Amino acid sequence: MADFEYRAKDDMFFVSGKIDGRSDLAALASYTKTPVRINFRETTALTSLGMKMVRDLIHARPDGAVEFHECPPYLVDMLNIIPNLIDVDGHRVHVRSVYVPFRCQDCSLDVDALVRTDEVKKKGHELAVPAKRCQKCARAMGMEVDPHDYFIFLG
Ligand SMILES: [Zn+2]
Repeated sequence: MADFEYRAKDDMFFVSGKIDGRSDLAALASYTKTPVRINFRETTALTSLGMKMVRDLIHARPDGAVEFHECPPYLVDMLNIIPNLIDVDGHRVHVRSVYVPFRCQDCSLDVDALVRTDEVKKKGHELAVPAKRCQKCARAMGMEVDPHDYFIFLG
């Protein structure tokens, strides 16, 4: 079951644990301000029933009124495979930031680095993702995933 923490400082809901059919999303549903910012950094899984509940929340709001922040790689995979998770009958979610798998070729360090979606630029057919530096050796790290595959959800 998911635990919620609302931090007024960031005006954001942090959801930790697994979002499933037993998750109590009442705190999110009764939030009246716009946008609703949901942070998935500490979310470990999203089941089918959890997904349905999140979609119901999105549908109850105007188009663009829900934002997803700090989506882990497994959630990004879901967004790419299930586009209607973030487009519920025309009520679209703004995905603001995602974790991207990077690897340092020199010291083999694997890191999921946070990337803001507004930093991802289209240059012709190429997608430019901001460079990340290795925390151990400070060299430039390479993305472990194909940017075209990973950012399908951007449309
Ligand atoms: Zn390194």
